[in-house]
Amino acid sequence: MWVQNLTPNQQVPTCSWCGKDFASTGRGRPRKYCSQACRQRAYEQRNNVSGTTIPAEAVIMSPERASELKDSLFELRCAAEDIATAVKDGEDPHEISFLCREMVELARNIEKLRS
Ligand SMILES: [Zn+2]
Repeated sequence: MWVQNLTPNQQVPTCSWCGKDFASTGRGRPRKYCSQACRQRAYEQRNNVSGTTIPAEAVIMSPERASELKDSLFELRCAAEDIATAVKDGEDPHEISFLCREMVELARNIEKLRS
């Protein structure tokens, strides 16, 4: 089946701050952040929101970034709709597989909420 061509859902650890994948050392306590910079930014936010009702791990973004994110989600929906149409029209499985890979790539970028 064509979906087998897609990268399987790997359990790659992702940074709690930037959402980037990072290589696990496989030893000791699993790390939360990909870098010292991300650890630092998370620490700063925890400090900034302490004493407020904003959760320490809240994803805080500018209105511009939120609007970008909405645009990306719209793009993602269009990609899903394109795939649905391609399937309905009996498109070539390789073409559908290509569209799926593109959509996965799109979604992967959207997952990085703080980038
Ligand atoms: Zn990070």
